[in-house]
Amino acid sequence: MTLAPQRIARPSSVTDAFLRRLVARVPSTGGGTWKLTEVYTGEVLVELPQSTPADIEHAFAVARNAQREWASWPLAKRLKVFKRAHSLFIDNAQTTADLIQVESGKNRRMAIEETCDPPMVMSHYLKRAPKLLAPVKRGGPVPFLTTSTEIRQAKGVVGIIAPWNFPFATGISDAISALMAGNAIVLKPDNKTALSPLYGISMLEEAGLPKGLFQVVCGEGPDVGPTLIDNANYVMFTGSTATGRVIGERAGRNLIGCCLELGGKNPMIVLEDADLEETVQGAVFGVFGNTGQICMHIERIYLPESRYDEFKTRFVAAAESLRVGASYDFGPEMGSLVSPDHKDRVQAHVDDAVAKGATVVTGGKARPDLGPAFFEPTILEGVTKDMLCGVTETFGPVVALHRYRTVDEAVALANDTDYGLNASVWGGDVEAASAVARRIESGNVNVNDILATAFASKGTPSGGVKQSGVGARHGDYGLLKYTDVQNLAVLKKQVMGARPGQDYDAYVKSMLSGLKLMRKTGVR
Ligand code: NAD
Repeated sequence: MTLAPQRIARPSSVTDAFLRRLVARVPSTGGGTWKLTEVYTGEVLVELPQSTPADIEHAFAVARNAQREWASWPLAKRLKVFKRAHSLFIDNAQTTADLIQVESGKNRRMAIEETCDPPMVMSHYLKRAPKLLAPVKRGGPVPFLTTSTEIRQAKGVVGIIAPWNFPFATGISDAISALMAGNAIVLKPDNKTALSPLYGISMLEEAGLPKGLFQVVCGEGPDVGPTLIDNANYVMFTGSTATGRVIGERAGRNLIGCCLELGGKNPMIVLEDADLEETVQGAVFGVFGNTGQICMHIERIYLPESRYDEFKTRFVAAAESLRVGASYDFGPEMGSLVSPDHKDRVQAHVDDAVAKGATVVTGGKARPDLGPAFFEPTILEGVTKDMLCGVTETFGPVVALHRYRTVDEAVALANDTDYGLNASVWGGDVEAASAVARRIESGNVNVNDILATAFASKGTPSGGVKQSGVGARHGDYGLLKYTDVQNLAVLKKQVMGARPGQDYDAYVKSMLSGLKLMRKTGVR
């Protein structure tokens, strides 16, 4: 049964004039428009221009032009923009959260957390970029007479393709280190969630980012992707593993680098000595946070036989007491899925599991009384690998509970997946839990947390292994990947090779003994 979505007042900041101003930045010469809707109500918010290949090429030309000037600025001058932007982003967090909520349907608690990501990334790289981008002088092959200097140069124009689940974080945060390094950006957000990144760019410009440097193009992925990748010097992609493969292939053909941040099927292992109160609280966030649409969220929970029933009772009670609803205040603990289409996909995963023998412990159904894309917090038992949700990412508020007999078995089950993005291990003995964590094939593993500790540690690279990705964001790598290295080598006096008239045997002998001497003295 489909009930009419409830009427709720749109946030006062989200006026028609504001939305029209935001989308005016998107180039479109005959590409038509796409109806961007408010998730809670299904009402059209604004007509989003769709960019043609010619628009995309033009966006790159403008960005490339602006990039030359930007890269010529001293780093300290570039960084000043982000010092100002950091304050602006925090001062305007509520408006950003309004936009994130209208376009994604997530609850306000998650929306406000998402607004904090770009400032955290800015803060980290404001400290770290001067060191990472400074030239590094190294010794050349001949002591005293040669030098080699490692110089970091901007790649040029970086294409960023972002998903809808964290549109502001993936659209803006991944651009920050690229911009600091002297690049320009052409961003393609998901059509559904273009508003918050557009607002982020307007704040960056208010902070002093040169106009033209950060371009946005919009459209369906397969329409925009090829022209975007063919014009970019590097591609930063966040999205599904299936699309990542397409992006990686095209980047490879063009011989440009790319970073692919993809999907997961993330496991949580609860050890015998875990504090169940904290573990259940963690699982509630891990499974239902962002309505289960976090790439690092939990879809599989492995429990020791001895704690299974206790955990299940508490977890089910917690899931059933969650406040789910459409609201622009901090009340609801879980919001909507992003779209009716995505809700149908989540329902299909649950239905497939049930048809193949799984049991719904709680939830399992859409909630049209709350809005067009709401789905209940859902806990399953009896999920096997012949079910869709047993092997592929559901990306909704759905989790499967499993029992294990030994820790070895738990580790083997956690690793029995093509993905390797995130994992979570809970135990009273942190050393023992960390030892289990090290055995999990995953780019991120959190001990006694779900994901925030890893993701918010901006100094450490965070990425997926196996089919969950190539490369990483954050850490030194998260900035250096947007640079090329120029090896500037200087020879002060020509001493390499045989001197004119020198007997070659004698030259070879002295060269070989020189190599030995340098090894022995540790000079090279
Ligand atoms: P998606 O792959 O369908 O789309 C992601 C982006 O790629 C969108 O902007 C889309 O328009 C674009 N796109 C689609 N096809 C394209 C093509 N052929 N060429 C170029 N661009 C194309 O993913 P989604 O459904 O929007 O996002 C959810 C997925 O993203 C989940 O799998 C989730 O795990 C993953 N994700 C991963 C991370 C991470 O850091 N690893 C973070 C967030 C989301």
